[in-house]
Amino acid sequence: MRRISTGVVVAVLGLALAACGQSSNGVGSAADAGDAKGGLVGIAMPTKSSERWINDGANMVKQFQAKGYKTDLQYGDNVVENQVAQIENMITKGAKLLVIAPIDGSSLSDVLQKAADAKIRVISYDRLIRGTTNVDYYATFDNYKVGVMQASYITDRLGLKDGKGPFNIELFAGSPDDNNAGFFYKGAMSVLKPYIDGKQLVVKSGQTEFTQVATLRWDGGVAQSRMDNLLSKAYTSATVDAVLSPYDGISIGIVSSLKGVGYGGANKPLPVVTGQDAELASVKSIIAGEQTQTVYKDTRELAKVAVQMGDAVLNGHQPEVNDTKQYDNGTKVVPAYLLQPVSVDKGNYQKLLVESGQYSADQLK
Ligand code: BGC
Repeated sequence: MRRISTGVVVAVLGLALAACGQSSNGVGSAADAGDAKGGLVGIAMPTKSSERWINDGANMVKQFQAKGYKTDLQYGDNVVENQVAQIENMITKGAKLLVIAPIDGSSLSDVLQKAADAKIRVISYDRLIRGTTNVDYYATFDNYKVGVMQASYITDRLGLKDGKGPFNIELFAGSPDDNNAGFFYKGAMSVLKPYIDGKQLVVKSGQTEFTQVATLRWDGGVAQSRMDNLLSKAYTSATVDAVLSPYDGISIGIVSSLKGVGYGGANKPLPVVTGQDAELASVKSIIAGEQTQTVYKDTRELAKVAVQMGDAVLNGHQPEVNDTKQYDNGTKVVPAYLLQPVSVDKGNYQKLLVESGQYSADQLK
Protein backbone atom coordinates (compact mmCIF):
# COMPACT_ATOMS: atom_id res chain seq x y z
CA MET A 1 0.00 0.00 0.00
CA ARG A 2 2.69 2.47 0.97
CA ARG A 3 4.96 1.70 -1.93
CA ILE A 4 5.08 4.39 -4.58
CA SER A 5 6.62 3.64 -7.95
CA THR A 6 9.82 5.45 -8.91
CA GLY A 7 7.98 6.93 -11.87
CA VAL A 8 5.51 8.66 -9.57
CA VAL A 9 8.30 9.97 -7.34
CA VAL A 10 10.09 11.39 -10.37
CA ALA A 11 6.89 12.97 -11.67
CA VAL A 12 6.10 14.51 -8.27
CA LEU A 13 9.67 15.80 -8.00
CA GLY A 14 9.33 17.33 -11.43
CA LEU A 15 6.12 19.06 -10.38
CA ALA A 16 7.71 20.35 -7.18
CA LEU A 17 10.63 21.79 -9.13
CA ALA A 18 8.30 23.38 -11.62
CA ALA A 19 6.23 24.85 -8.80
CA CYS A 20 9.34 26.68 -7.56
CA GLY A 21 9.35 28.52 -10.87
CA GLN A 22 12.67 26.89 -11.64
CA SER A 23 13.47 24.85 -14.61
CA SER A 24 12.01 21.41 -14.03
CA ASN A 25 14.29 18.61 -15.13
CA GLY A 26 11.61 17.45 -17.50
CA VAL A 27 12.02 13.80 -16.51
CA GLY A 28 8.66 12.12 -16.66
CA SER A 29 7.04 15.33 -17.87
CA ALA A 30 5.84 15.83 -21.41
CA ALA A 31 6.48 12.25 -22.53
CA ASP A 32 4.07 10.75 -20.05
CA ALA A 33 1.81 13.75 -19.66
CA GLY A 34 -0.81 12.38 -22.03
CA ASP A 35 -3.04 15.33 -22.92
CA ALA A 36 -1.88 18.93 -23.04
CA LYS A 37 -2.48 19.65 -19.37
CA GLY A 38 0.55 18.76 -17.32
CA GLY A 39 2.79 19.14 -20.37
CA LEU A 40 5.92 21.24 -20.30
CA VAL A 41 5.97 24.81 -21.59
CA GLY A 42 9.37 26.30 -22.40
CA ILE A 43 9.53 30.05 -21.88
CA ALA A 44 12.58 31.74 -23.43
CA MET A 45 13.04 35.39 -22.42
CA PRO A 46 15.86 37.67 -23.64
CA THR A 47 17.43 39.21 -20.55
CA LYS A 48 17.10 39.91 -16.87
CA SER A 49 18.79 43.27 -17.27
CA SER A 50 15.43 44.88 -17.86
CA GLU A 51 12.67 44.55 -15.29
CA ARG A 52 9.92 44.06 -17.81
CA TRP A 53 11.22 40.66 -18.96
CA ILE A 54 11.55 39.47 -15.38
CA ASN A 55 7.88 40.34 -14.87
CA ASP A 56 6.87 38.77 -18.20
CA GLY A 57 8.56 35.49 -17.25
CA ALA A 58 7.16 35.42 -13.73
CA ASN A 59 3.64 36.25 -14.91
CA MET A 60 3.66 33.47 -17.50
CA VAL A 61 5.03 30.87 -15.09
CA LYS A 62 2.27 31.75 -12.62
CA GLN A 63 -0.48 31.65 -15.21
CA PHE A 64 0.66 28.50 -17.04
CA GLN A 65 1.05 26.65 -13.74
CA ALA A 66 -2.41 27.77 -12.64
CA LYS A 67 -3.71 26.02 -15.77
CA GLY A 68 -1.87 22.83 -14.83
CA TYR A 69 1.24 23.08 -17.04
CA LYS A 70 4.85 22.68 -16.01
CA THR A 71 7.19 25.45 -16.99
CA ASP A 72 10.84 25.89 -17.86
CA LEU A 73 11.72 29.61 -17.76
CA GLN A 74 15.10 30.66 -19.16
CA TYR A 75 16.82 33.99 -19.78
CA GLY A 76 19.40 34.32 -22.58
CA ASP A 77 21.41 37.18 -21.09
CA ASN A 78 21.11 39.04 -24.43
CA VAL A 79 23.40 36.45 -26.06
CA VAL A 80 21.83 34.80 -29.11
CA GLU A 81 23.76 31.51 -28.72
CA ASN A 82 22.54 31.17 -25.13
CA GLN A 83 18.95 31.51 -26.23
CA VAL A 84 19.36 28.97 -29.03
CA ALA A 85 20.94 26.48 -26.59
CA GLN A 86 18.17 27.06 -24.06
CA ILE A 87 15.49 26.39 -26.67
CA GLU A 88 17.32 23.24 -27.83
CA ASN A 89 17.32 22.07 -24.25
CA MET A 90 13.59 22.70 -23.92
CA ILE A 91 13.01 20.60 -27.04
CA THR A 92 15.13 17.78 -25.58
CA LYS A 93 13.14 17.92 -22.36
CA GLY A 94 9.96 17.25 -24.31
CA ALA A 95 8.30 20.67 -24.21
CA LYS A 96 4.94 20.79 -25.99
CA LEU A 97 4.91 24.54 -26.41
CA LEU A 98 7.57 27.22 -26.68
CA VAL A 99 6.89 30.86 -25.84
CA ILE A 100 9.79 32.93 -27.11
CA ALA A 101 10.76 36.61 -26.94
CA PRO A 102 13.76 36.48 -29.29
CA ILE A 103 17.02 38.33 -28.69
CA ASP A 104 17.67 38.42 -32.44
CA GLY A 105 14.39 37.85 -34.24
CA SER A 106 16.06 36.21 -37.24
CA SER A 107 18.36 33.72 -35.55
CA LEU A 108 15.97 30.96 -34.57
CA SER A 109 15.16 29.26 -37.89
CA ASP A 110 17.32 26.16 -37.31
CA VAL A 111 16.26 25.51 -33.75
CA LEU A 112 12.60 26.09 -34.64
CA GLN A 113 12.89 23.55 -37.45
CA LYS A 114 13.89 21.06 -34.74
CA ALA A 115 10.87 22.15 -32.72
CA ALA A 116 8.61 21.68 -35.73
CA ASP A 117 10.06 18.20 -36.37
CA ALA A 118 9.13 17.36 -32.78
CA LYS A 119 5.60 18.82 -33.32
CA ILE A 120 6.14 21.56 -30.76
CA ARG A 121 3.93 24.65 -31.10
CA VAL A 122 5.51 28.09 -30.96
CA ILE A 123 4.25 31.47 -29.78
CA SER A 124 6.25 34.58 -30.51
CA TYR A 125 6.11 36.75 -27.42
CA ASP A 126 6.21 40.55 -27.64
CA ARG A 127 8.91 40.44 -30.36
CA LEU A 128 8.33 38.84 -33.74
CA ILE A 129 10.29 35.72 -34.70
CA ARG A 130 11.36 36.30 -38.29
CA GLY A 131 12.39 34.20 -41.27
CA THR A 132 10.63 30.93 -40.41
CA THR A 133 7.18 29.49 -40.93
CA ASN A 134 7.58 27.56 -37.69
CA VAL A 135 5.83 30.12 -35.54
CA ASP A 136 2.12 29.76 -34.89
CA TYR A 137 0.92 32.95 -33.22
CA TYR A 138 2.18 36.28 -31.96
CA ALA A 139 1.17 38.00 -28.70
CA THR A 140 2.23 41.62 -28.50
CA PHE A 141 1.23 45.26 -28.11
CA ASP A 142 0.38 47.68 -30.89
CA ASN A 143 4.02 48.48 -31.52
CA TYR A 144 3.45 51.13 -34.18
CA LYS A 145 1.19 52.95 -31.75
CA VAL A 146 3.91 52.94 -29.09
CA GLY A 147 6.03 55.09 -31.42
CA VAL A 148 3.09 57.30 -32.29
CA MET A 149 2.45 57.88 -28.57
CA GLN A 150 6.08 58.79 -27.85
CA ALA A 151 6.25 61.23 -30.74
CA SER A 152 2.81 62.74 -30.09
CA TYR A 153 3.83 63.38 -26.52
CA ILE A 154 6.79 65.40 -27.80
CA THR A 155 4.76 67.38 -30.34
CA ASP A 156 2.05 68.14 -27.74
CA ARG A 157 4.52 69.24 -25.09
CA LEU A 158 6.34 71.51 -27.53
CA GLY A 159 3.07 72.96 -28.88
CA LEU A 160 3.95 72.19 -32.47
CA LYS A 161 0.30 72.09 -33.59
CA ASP A 162 -0.02 75.67 -32.39
CA GLY A 163 2.86 76.63 -34.64
CA LYS A 164 5.54 76.95 -31.92
CA GLY A 165 9.20 76.29 -32.72
CA PRO A 166 11.64 75.71 -34.19
CA PHE A 167 12.89 73.25 -31.57
CA ASN A 168 15.93 70.95 -31.59
CA ILE A 169 15.32 67.23 -31.31
CA GLU A 170 17.54 64.13 -31.36
CA LEU A 171 16.30 60.67 -32.22
CA PHE A 172 17.07 57.23 -30.79
CA ALA A 173 15.77 53.83 -31.88
CA GLY A 174 16.03 50.34 -30.41
CA SER A 175 17.97 47.27 -31.46
CA PRO A 176 18.14 46.68 -35.23
CA ASP A 177 17.71 42.91 -34.78
CA ASP A 178 14.41 43.44 -32.94
CA ASN A 179 11.44 43.79 -35.29
CA ASN A 180 9.70 46.01 -32.73
CA ALA A 181 12.40 48.65 -32.97
CA GLY A 182 11.48 49.37 -36.59
CA PHE A 183 7.77 49.53 -35.74
CA PHE A 184 8.38 51.97 -32.88
CA TYR A 185 10.56 54.18 -35.06
CA LYS A 186 8.19 54.15 -38.02
CA GLY A 187 5.28 55.02 -35.75
CA ALA A 188 7.25 57.88 -34.20
CA MET A 189 8.46 59.21 -37.53
CA SER A 190 4.92 59.19 -38.95
CA VAL A 191 4.27 61.98 -36.43
CA LEU A 192 7.67 63.74 -36.39
CA LYS A 193 8.63 63.76 -40.06
CA PRO A 194 6.13 66.40 -41.21
CA TYR A 195 7.48 68.76 -38.50
CA ILE A 196 11.08 67.94 -39.46
CA ASP A 197 10.27 68.57 -43.13
CA GLY A 198 8.54 71.82 -42.16
CA LYS A 199 11.59 72.85 -40.05
CA GLN A 200 9.55 73.22 -36.84
CA LEU A 201 11.78 70.40 -35.56
CA VAL A 202 15.48 70.46 -36.31
CA VAL A 203 17.76 67.43 -35.92
CA LYS A 204 21.08 69.23 -35.53
CA SER A 205 23.14 66.04 -35.77
CA GLY A 206 21.48 65.29 -39.09
CA GLN A 207 21.00 61.67 -37.95
CA THR A 208 17.50 60.56 -38.88
CA GLU A 209 17.98 57.20 -40.61
CA PHE A 210 17.04 54.16 -38.55
CA THR A 211 20.52 52.69 -39.02
CA GLN A 212 22.11 55.88 -37.66
CA VAL A 213 19.95 56.10 -34.55
CA ALA A 214 19.54 52.39 -33.65
CA THR A 215 20.92 51.08 -30.35
CA LEU A 216 22.24 47.52 -30.46
CA ARG A 217 20.59 45.30 -27.82
CA TRP A 218 18.78 48.34 -26.40
CA ASP A 219 21.91 49.12 -24.38
CA GLY A 220 21.54 52.22 -22.18
CA GLY A 221 25.32 52.64 -21.98
CA VAL A 222 25.62 52.69 -25.78
CA ALA A 223 22.86 55.31 -25.96
CA GLN A 224 24.54 57.40 -23.27
CA SER A 225 27.81 57.46 -25.26
CA ARG A 226 25.97 58.40 -28.43
CA MET A 227 24.20 61.24 -26.59
CA ASP A 228 27.57 62.43 -25.18
CA ASN A 229 28.82 62.55 -28.75
CA LEU A 230 25.81 64.38 -30.12
CA LEU A 231 26.00 66.98 -27.36
CA SER A 232 29.70 67.65 -27.87
CA LYS A 233 29.42 67.81 -31.65
CA ALA A 234 26.12 69.56 -32.35
CA TYR A 235 25.12 71.34 -29.15
CA THR A 236 28.07 73.42 -27.96
CA SER A 237 26.13 76.57 -28.74
CA ALA A 238 22.60 75.20 -29.04
CA THR A 239 20.15 73.49 -26.70
CA VAL A 240 18.35 70.22 -27.22
CA ASP A 241 14.62 70.55 -26.55
CA ALA A 242 13.44 66.97 -27.03
CA VAL A 243 14.83 63.47 -27.34
CA LEU A 244 12.85 60.60 -28.83
CA SER A 245 13.84 57.58 -26.76
CA PRO A 246 12.24 54.17 -27.44
CA TYR A 247 12.89 52.47 -24.08
CA ASP A 248 13.38 53.46 -20.43
CA GLY A 249 16.88 51.94 -20.12
CA ILE A 250 17.95 54.15 -23.03
CA SER A 251 16.15 57.18 -21.56
CA ILE A 252 18.05 56.82 -18.28
CA GLY A 253 21.34 56.82 -20.23
CA ILE A 254 20.26 59.91 -22.19
CA VAL A 255 19.21 61.80 -19.07
CA SER A 256 22.54 61.10 -17.36
CA SER A 257 24.41 62.31 -20.41
CA LEU A 258 22.34 65.51 -20.43
CA LYS A 259 22.83 66.08 -16.71
CA GLY A 260 26.55 65.58 -17.22
CA VAL A 261 26.71 68.76 -19.30
CA GLY A 262 24.47 70.83 -17.05
CA TYR A 263 20.92 70.16 -18.23
CA GLY A 264 18.51 70.06 -15.32
CA GLY A 265 20.35 72.94 -13.65
CA ALA A 266 18.93 76.40 -12.90
CA ASN A 267 18.94 77.94 -16.40
CA LYS A 268 19.03 74.84 -18.52
CA PRO A 269 15.92 72.67 -18.22
CA LEU A 270 16.09 69.06 -19.32
CA PRO A 271 14.51 68.38 -22.71
CA VAL A 272 11.36 66.33 -23.13
CA VAL A 273 12.59 62.71 -22.99
CA THR A 274 10.24 59.83 -23.84
CA GLY A 275 10.55 56.15 -22.91
CA GLN A 276 8.84 52.77 -22.73
CA ASP A 277 8.01 50.05 -20.21
CA ALA A 278 7.34 52.16 -17.10
CA GLU A 279 10.34 50.60 -15.36
CA LEU A 280 10.70 51.51 -11.72
CA ALA A 281 13.83 53.67 -12.19
CA SER A 282 12.13 55.62 -14.97
CA VAL A 283 8.89 56.15 -13.10
CA LYS A 284 10.94 57.53 -10.20
CA SER A 285 12.82 59.72 -12.67
CA ILE A 286 9.50 61.00 -14.07
CA ILE A 287 8.27 61.81 -10.56
CA ALA A 288 11.57 63.65 -9.94
CA GLY A 289 11.02 65.72 -13.13
CA GLU A 290 13.89 64.23 -15.16
CA GLN A 291 12.63 61.70 -17.73
CA THR A 292 9.32 63.13 -19.00
CA GLN A 293 7.22 60.27 -20.32
CA THR A 294 7.06 56.51 -20.70
CA VAL A 295 4.75 54.04 -22.42
CA TYR A 296 3.24 51.47 -20.11
CA LYS A 297 2.52 47.99 -21.39
CA ASP A 298 0.85 45.79 -18.81
CA THR A 299 2.88 42.56 -18.90
CA ARG A 300 0.24 40.82 -16.79
CA GLU A 301 -2.18 41.23 -19.70
CA LEU A 302 0.39 40.15 -22.29
CA ALA A 303 1.13 37.01 -20.27
CA LYS A 304 -2.60 36.32 -20.16
CA VAL A 305 -2.86 36.55 -23.95
CA ALA A 306 0.14 34.25 -24.48
CA VAL A 307 -1.11 31.71 -21.97
CA GLN A 308 -4.58 31.66 -23.56
CA MET A 309 -3.03 31.26 -27.00
CA GLY A 310 -0.79 28.44 -25.79
CA ASP A 311 -3.59 26.65 -23.99
CA ALA A 312 -5.82 26.94 -27.06
CA VAL A 313 -3.28 25.57 -29.60
CA LEU A 314 -2.35 22.71 -27.31
CA ASN A 315 -5.98 21.74 -27.04
CA GLY A 316 -6.78 22.00 -30.73
CA HIS A 317 -8.65 25.33 -30.50
CA GLN A 318 -8.11 28.52 -32.46
CA PRO A 319 -6.78 31.33 -30.30
CA GLU A 320 -8.36 34.77 -30.54
CA VAL A 321 -6.41 37.18 -32.78
CA ASN A 322 -7.10 40.77 -33.79
CA ASP A 323 -4.41 41.41 -36.42
CA THR A 324 -3.75 39.26 -39.46
CA LYS A 325 -2.00 41.83 -41.64
CA GLN A 326 0.80 43.78 -39.99
CA TYR A 327 3.25 41.14 -38.84
CA ASP A 328 4.83 39.62 -41.91
CA ASN A 329 7.95 37.82 -40.69
CA GLY A 330 9.43 37.41 -44.16
CA THR A 331 7.98 33.94 -44.71
CA LYS A 332 4.40 34.33 -43.46
CA VAL A 333 2.07 36.80 -41.85
CA VAL A 334 1.89 35.69 -38.25
CA PRO A 335 -1.61 36.02 -36.78
CA ALA A 336 -1.34 38.33 -33.79
CA TYR A 337 -3.20 39.63 -30.80
CA LEU A 338 -2.27 43.24 -30.12
CA LEU A 339 -2.84 44.87 -26.74
CA GLN A 340 -3.07 48.63 -26.30
CA PRO A 341 -0.20 50.62 -24.74
CA VAL A 342 -0.79 53.76 -22.65
CA SER A 343 1.23 56.95 -22.32
CA VAL A 344 2.33 57.81 -18.78
CA ASP A 345 3.75 61.01 -17.32
CA LYS A 346 3.85 62.82 -14.00
CA GLY A 347 0.19 63.78 -14.35
CA ASN A 348 -1.30 60.30 -14.64
CA TYR A 349 1.20 57.79 -13.18
CA GLN A 350 -0.71 57.63 -9.91
CA LYS A 351 -3.87 56.47 -11.62
CA LEU A 352 -2.25 54.24 -14.26
CA LEU A 353 0.56 52.65 -12.29
CA VAL A 354 -0.36 52.83 -8.62
CA GLU A 355 -4.14 52.42 -8.68
CA SER A 356 -3.75 49.62 -11.25
CA GLY A 357 -1.56 47.72 -8.79
CA GLN A 358 1.57 47.78 -10.97
CA TYR A 359 3.53 49.58 -8.25
CA SER A 360 2.80 50.36 -4.63
CA ALA A 361 3.19 53.96 -3.45
CA ASP A 362 6.07 52.73 -1.26
CA GLN A 363 8.01 51.35 -4.24
CA LEU A 364 7.94 54.76 -5.88
CA LYS A 365 9.37 56.63 -2.86
C1 BGC B 1 9.95 45.54 -26.21
C2 BGC B 1 10.01 46.77 -25.36
C3 BGC B 1 11.34 46.85 -24.65
C4 BGC B 1 12.51 46.59 -25.56
C5 BGC B 1 13.80 46.48 -24.81
C6 BGC B 1 11.15 45.49 -27.11
O1 BGC B 1 11.08 44.40 -27.95
O2 BGC B 1 8.74 45.54 -26.93
O3 BGC B 1 8.97 46.75 -24.41
O4 BGC B 1 11.49 48.15 -24.13
O5 BGC B 1 12.31 45.42 -26.31
O6 BGC B 1 13.78 45.40 -23.92
